[in-house]
Amino acid sequence: MSKVPVVALVGRPNVGKSTIFNRLIGERVSIVEDHPGVTRDRIYATGRWIGKEYRLIDTGGIDMSNEPLMNQVRYQADLAMDEADVIVMVTSVREGVTLEDEEVAQRLHRTNKPVVLAINKADNPEQRQMIYDFYTLGLGDPIPISGSHGTGIGDLLDKIVELFPSDSSDTDDDDSIKFSFIGRPNVGKSSLVNAILKEERVIVSNIEGTTREAVDTKFKTADGKEYTMIDTAGIRKKGKVWENTEKYSVMRALSAIERSDIVCMVLDAETGIIEQDKRVAGYAYEAGKGIIIIVNKWDAVDKSNNKFDEFTKEIRKEFQYLRFAPILFVSAKTGQRLNKLPELINMIHENRARRVQSSILNNVVMDAVAMNPTPTDKGRRLKIYYMTQVAINPPTFVVFVNDVELMHFSYERFLENQLRESFYFEGTPVHIITRARS
Ligand code: GDP
Ligand code: GDP
Repeated sequence: MSKVPVVALVGRPNVGKSTIFNRLIGERVSIVEDHPGVTRDRIYATGRWIGKEYRLIDTGGIDMSNEPLMNQVRYQADLAMDEADVIVMVTSVREGVTLEDEEVAQRLHRTNKPVVLAINKADNPEQRQMIYDFYTLGLGDPIPISGSHGTGIGDLLDKIVELFPSDSSDTDDDDSIKFSFIGRPNVGKSSLVNAILKEERVIVSNIEGTTREAVDTKFKTADGKEYTMIDTAGIRKKGKVWENTEKYSVMRALSAIERSDIVCMVLDAETGIIEQDKRVAGYAYEAGKGIIIIVNKWDAVDKSNNKFDEFTKEIRKEFQYLRFAPILFVSAKTGQRLNKLPELINMIHENRARRVQSSILNNVVMDAVAMNPTPTDKGRRLKIYYMTQVAINPPTFVVFVNDVELMHFSYERFLENQLRESFYFEGTPVHIITRARS
C-alpha cells in the first residue's frame, strides 16, 4: 500500500481556497454525488499531477464559524500541520498582507513540513508584480496564481509535487489485511481499537502513517494471519477543537476508507441509527471496500424484547445497499464477540479475492436467464452473450450484451444476486459492468 501524500489548503476566508480547490481537482472529485447520504462537500478529494496522486483538503471547508476569525485561521493552520504532508498557504494580492495572514504564517513557521505560499487573485501582470510584499511572511517565494482564470496553477502543482515526501515510493511488500473503524464521534471507535489491542497480544509493530500523528497497528492472530488496523477519526487526537465537527470526521473517515481493504462501520446500540451514520457508509461502498457493520455498546442494551432482531431489521432497512455486509454485535467495554472480528475480516478478504472461471460463471448466467427472462424494450430483447470476471478486490464482472440500453438496473441486481448465491461474496461489493459486444 503506497502512501498517498496529503496536501492542505489554509488561509483566511475569501482568499479563494475553494476556487483553487476546484481548479486543482478539476472534475476528478472522488466523492460520488448521487449516492444515498454521501456528502457533496468539496473538502476532501483526490488529485493527480504528472502521474502522481495526492489527497487535497480544504481546511476552510471545516466549519469553525462559531469561533472568532483569528481562532478559525489558527485552528485551520494547526489542522493542516497535523494532517498534511505539504501545506499550501493561500492569500490574496488584493488586500496585501493582513494580520490573519501573519498569524497563519507564524504558526506555519513551527512546522517542519514544507509550506508553499500561493498569492491568489493575481489576475493580470500588474497584480503579479505585487506579490513581492509577501516575502515578509517568511515562507519563501510567493507563487502568483489566479483561481478564477486558472493561471499559475500548473506552477503551483509543480512546486507541490516537488515537495512530496520521498518515502511515498511503492516498495510495499506488506500483505497484511488493512481494516479500519469508521463512524461518527462517540460510537466507540477508539475504545474498539484499544480493546482489539488488548485482545490481540501479538502486536507486530506500530507503523507511522502518512502523517506523523497517524499510527497504524499491525498484529498477528494465532493462526499467523497479519492485520493492520488503520488509525482513524483522530483517535489519537482527542481534545482538538475540530475533532467533533462533522466534516472533519467525514474527512478522516474517507482517508481511512481509502487505505483499508475492509471497513468496519460502527453504530452505537445505545443511541440507534441517526442520519450522520449514513453519510460515509455510501462512500465505502462506492470505493468497493469490504464492509462489516459493527453494533457497539451491546453491553448497554436491555435485551429482553428481541432487541437483536429489531436492530438487525432497522439496519437492513436504513442501509439497503449494504445488504451484503455482515452485522456483528460487540462491546468494546466487555470485549464481547470481538474475537470474531479478525476471522470475519479474513473471510471477507478471501471473498474479495475470489476468481470465478468463465465456464462456471456462464453456466450460472445461463441458468439465471432461464429462470428470469431478460428484459425487453420496444420489442427488442436484451441478449446476454457471456460474462467474464475482470478484476478482484472487489470482484468485478463484465457482461457482454447486444445493447447496453436494454440492461435494466433491476436485472443487473438480479444477476448480482445470482452470483452471490452461487459464489460466496459475503461482505464485499460485487461490480457488474455491462458492455456491448462489438
Ligand atoms: P475561500 O473562502 O478562501 O474558499 O474563497 P472562495 O474560493 O470562496 O473565493 C472567495 C471569492 O473570491 C469568490 O467570490 C471568488 O469568486 C473570488 N475569487 C477566487 N479566486 C479568484 C481570483 O483568482 N481572482 C479574483 N478576482 N477573484 C477570485
Ligand atoms: P469514538 O469517538 O468513536 O472514538 O468513541 P470512544 O471510543 O471515545 O467512546 C465514546 C464513549 O462511549 C466513551 O465514553 C466510551 O467509554 C463509551 N463506550 C465505548 N464503547 C463502549 C461499549 O462497548 N459499551 C459501553 N457501555 N460504552 C462504550
